[in-house]
Amino acid sequence: MSKLITMKFGGTSVGSPEAITNVVSIVKGEVDAGNRVIVVVSAMSGVTDALLASVKMAIADNKWGYLDTARKLRDRHDDTLNILIPPGKNRETTQAEIAALLDEYTEICQAVNILGEATPRIWDAVVSFGERLSCRMVAAVLRHHGLDARAYNAGDFLLTNNQYQQAVPLWAETQARIDEKLRPLLTQGVTPVITGFLGATRDGNITTLGRGGSDYSGAIFAACTDSDELVIWTDVDGVMTADPRLDKRARVLPYVSYQEVGELAFYGAKVLHPKTVQPILDKGMPIRVRNTFNPQHPGTLIRENGERTQTVIKAVTSIKNVSLLTVSGKGMIGVPGIAGRTFLASAQAGASILMISQSSSEQSFCFLVTDNTARNVREAIEAELAEELARRDIDRVDVEENVVIITAVGAGMRGTPGVAGRVFSVMGERGINVIAIAQGSSECSISFVVPQDDLERAVIALHDLALDGAA
Ligand code: ASP
Ligand code: MG
Repeated sequence: MSKLITMKFGGTSVGSPEAITNVVSIVKGEVDAGNRVIVVVSAMSGVTDALLASVKMAIADNKWGYLDTARKLRDRHDDTLNILIPPGKNRETTQAEIAALLDEYTEICQAVNILGEATPRIWDAVVSFGERLSCRMVAAVLRHHGLDARAYNAGDFLLTNNQYQQAVPLWAETQARIDEKLRPLLTQGVTPVITGFLGATRDGNITTLGRGGSDYSGAIFAACTDSDELVIWTDVDGVMTADPRLDKRARVLPYVSYQEVGELAFYGAKVLHPKTVQPILDKGMPIRVRNTFNPQHPGTLIRENGERTQTVIKAVTSIKNVSLLTVSGKGMIGVPGIAGRTFLASAQAGASILMISQSSSEQSFCFLVTDNTARNVREAIEAELAEELARRDIDRVDVEENVVIITAVGAGMRGTPGVAGRVFSVMGERGINVIAIAQGSSECSISFVVPQDDLERAVIALHDLALDGAA
């Protein structure tokens, strides 16, 4: 039976002529086998960062900077097309579209330059060019190989609210547009190539789904088209038991569950955007993570239930560049609302909270945010709790920067007694001081905080447990 497959290709997967050649054979292989494919693409690797940097240049009156970015982007896309497509109409029209997009980009930068500032909406408009360029380029190459591939801006189908830089899909409207505009294309045999990362507001302004958001885009399109599967094509063989840079013994996990991968992504594994599983959950659709540069490898299959391994801990992740904030004071005991006000103040300061822990004596609680937000968060909390601080009900708000979060993930932890015990005995045996601990109520992960200097040793110690089945 013919399948509908949504495939998302990441930045490195469309980042060079060689990579795009692999993309073509992957997509064409499915289409030739009688399947239909929806392609969702990231910007070429490094482009999103370059575009973000160019907004700063425009604000700082560095005209040369953004003009240079425009020129480099044009060269990179043109060169790629020159290598992959012979001279002719397909190549020329695509290069003309790329030139037109970059003219538009330059005009926006000019406006930012004149104003000396950029709103979140403008940041999104500028950063959108990465995917808009790569999408046209990839569609052209697929056409050259005989597919009826057409480039689309995600905003044609994917509507979001106007929370620029972190937009949220408007599900009902998106579903309606996909039914009305995208499904007919599939029936006609078109291979749509859609910009990842982007959406549009009801008024048609471009929005982005947050950094790394094209995985999420892939999941949205897969879910709303009822695809048979979603494949995330990236540059590693799959979801790994640990970061191979921290422990060489890391290996690819053949199966993980939605929940496990969600925890892994949230706690620092870079392989998938944390929101990717959300749209897929109720559909029970399989997600595969596969390597564009090693397409023979089966990758990782993510489903409702992962495999039952002998080891309770399946994988270990870590998050660096986090700060630990501690609010402490004897006057907090039994006083409701301090934690609530603290977290609200943190949210208003733009921080998202990665982990929370409170001691049962209620004399202090602590939580973790990313380093870049810590200072603002502390100020916001001090302002919110100014009265309590003045009365000495709260002694202080401390910030500790040189810490990391380590997380052990595995669905088998649920109902298995003693896992936490083993985890922390291992830390103790190796002389690693655990600063704070939290377990998600899903019981699918345990997270704890250690000094930054102990990162590698802590990961290796936990990975030992995952590898030898001792936990
Ligand atoms: N290009 C965007 C980024 O680098 C989105 C993505 O690739 O997922 O964040
Ligand atoms: Mg990514």
